[in-house]
Amino acid sequence: MQALLEAAKSAGVVIRTGVSIARFQQTVQGVTLFATVEGTVEQPYGDYGALILADGTRSHLRAQMRVRQWVRPYPWGALWSIVPTPADADSTDLRQWYRGCSQMFGIMPTGRTHEAPEQRVSSLFWSLPTAGYAAWCEAGLGAWKNSVTQLAGPQADAFLAHVHSPAQLTLATYADVRMQQWHDCRVLAIGDCAHAMSPQLGQGANMALVDAAALAAALRRGTSGDLPADWPAVFASYAKTRRQHLRYYRQASRLLTPLFQSNSAALAVLRDSALFLARHLPMGRNHAVTTLVGGRTGWLFGRTPDTSLHVWRHDSSLRPPDQPAASVAD
Ligand SMILES: Cc1cc2nc3c(=O)[nH]c(=O)nc-3n(C[C@H](O)[C@H](O)[C@H](O)COP(=O)(O)OP(=O)(O)OC[C@H]3O[C@@H](n4cnc5c(N)ncnc54)[C@H](O)[C@@H]3O)c2cc1C
Repeated sequence: MQALLEAAKSAGVVIRTGVSIARFQQTVQGVTLFATVEGTVEQPYGDYGALILADGTRSHLRAQMRVRQWVRPYPWGALWSIVPTPADADSTDLRQWYRGCSQMFGIMPTGRTHEAPEQRVSSLFWSLPTAGYAAWCEAGLGAWKNSVTQLAGPQADAFLAHVHSPAQLTLATYADVRMQQWHDCRVLAIGDCAHAMSPQLGQGANMALVDAAALAAALRRGTSGDLPADWPAVFASYAKTRRQHLRYYRQASRLLTPLFQSNSAALAVLRDSALFLARHLPMGRNHAVTTLVGGRTGWLFGRTPDTSLHVWRHDSSLRPPDQPAASVAD
């Protein structure tokens, strides 16, 4: 983060935080921003050549683009908490435990915080239908901890010991965002604002970073010398390079999400059979790994150009084949 801030500073990029942009106005010459001051009053916040919207799934600026768009909230979400990693934790891997498709508990190593850099932390997550949140609160923390221990066994106890109140668990909800196209003249949507998906494939941040890299490449291609960029052309060129990659991940995410979050018993059997094949057949394994490193652009042969390098890096850190990366209960 520090390196990024320093690079931005030396390139003359001005970063302003803590500003809430309420709306924008687009003309042929440029884009004017309006910021909300003290929660209510709107004030002009500068004129720019272009606007890149990276304001996440619940962007309210996206609706001002003259582009058809669909936002579909998922019926399932997840409770999240970040807790200190116990000193004797026996694994540094992401671990998830499932019962059918309706129960899932996960522990994800999450690095360290700025406040206490010597302490490792882990994210705990528990799958929950969003409509069931009130009932979960009513049932109380003890009932939840029992369910987790029944699913994941005593190895979860040292993590659960850090959760003392339901307020330590935040309900994360997600939505599927689809746009007919991501650009509208001088305005472009990227990241979750443009194509949020359920986090089951763990690709949202990956896709947002690839968007940023692809946009930088499109800008390099579309500018010459000191001439101002032709933003609508740069954005159109960017969109062309992102279409196939994002289409594959959107389809995969929509197909796979019910296998991990739903009430279907049949889908649980299908998921476990598919994962078995993915682990034991070289082709299945390769497909799974290239998908999980964000390197696929299609179901059969499509790959991003540098996938072989990603696969090698990812594969070398996998467990031996006889040890599952995730435990499946029942
Ligand atoms: C429960 C859950 C688990 C996830 N797990 C994973 C995972 O394991 N791996 C993975 O790759 N991805 C995961 N994701 C997805 C990942 O978090 C997102 O894809 C990623 O954060 C998208 O980045 P972004 O920059 O597009 O949007 P965001 O990270 O949402 O950032 C948007 C920013 O815009 C700001 N903003 C919003 N509106 C305005 C405004 N009007 N004015 C000014 N600023 C504004 C917000 O404050 C925020 O800082 C998960 C998501 C969820 C919900």
